[in-house]
Amino acid sequence: MESYSPDVLISEEDIALRLEDLGRAITEDYQGQELVVICVLKGAFMFCSDLIKKIELPIKLEFISLSSYGDGTSSSGNVVLDMDISSSIAGKNVLVIEDIVDTGLTIKTLNEMLLVRKPKSLKLASLLFKPSRNEHPAKIDYLGFEIEDKFVIGYGLDYAGRYRELPYVGVLNAGN
Ligand code: 5GP
Repeated sequence: MESYSPDVLISEEDIALRLEDLGRAITEDYQGQELVVICVLKGAFMFCSDLIKKIELPIKLEFISLSSYGDGTSSSGNVVLDMDISSSIAGKNVLVIEDIVDTGLTIKTLNEMLLVRKPKSLKLASLLFKPSRNEHPAKIDYLGFEIEDKFVIGYGLDYAGRYRELPYVGVLNAGN
C-alpha cells in the first residue's frame, strides 16, 4: 500500500483544545435557544462532527454541499449548489460550519442564499481562515485558526478527493 505523511500544520491536540473554546463560546451565546447547524460538505464534516459534541444546546443538523474548487488548488471563481438543506430555516438560529474561508466567495454566496430564507440569526464557524487571500470579507463569528497562504489538507479537507481522513491539518510535502 502507498504510504504518505504530510507535514503537520495544526495537530490533533491543538484542534481538540480549540474546539473546547469554540463549543463553550457557542453554548454561552445561544443559551436557552435551539440551533440549526448547517454543515458545509464535504470539507467541514470532521470539524462539524467534533464541534457539535462540544455544544451543549439542542441542535438540528443539516447538510449543504457547495463546490467552488475542482480537483486543483485554486478557485474556479463560481460557486455551485450541489445539495441543499432539507428543512426551512425561517425564524431559526442558524450556525453555518465551514472548513476554511479563503477568498470568501463560498461563504458570501452561501450567506446570500440563506439570508433570503429569513433565519432569526445567521452566524459562521470556520475551522480555518486565510487572511492573505480574502477578497469578500465575511464575519467569522467562531474561528479555529488563522493560517498562512498554504494549501492545507486533512481533518476533512482534501486534495483531489484524498487526505480527508487525517486527524490533523497538514500541508503536502515533496514526498506526497
Ligand atoms: P473560498 O470560496 O473562500 O475561496 O474557498 C472556500 C472553499 O475552498 C473551502 O470550503 C474549501 O473547500 C476550498 N479551499 C480553500 N482553501 C483550501 C485549502 O487550503 N485546502 C483545501 N483542501 N481546500 C481549500
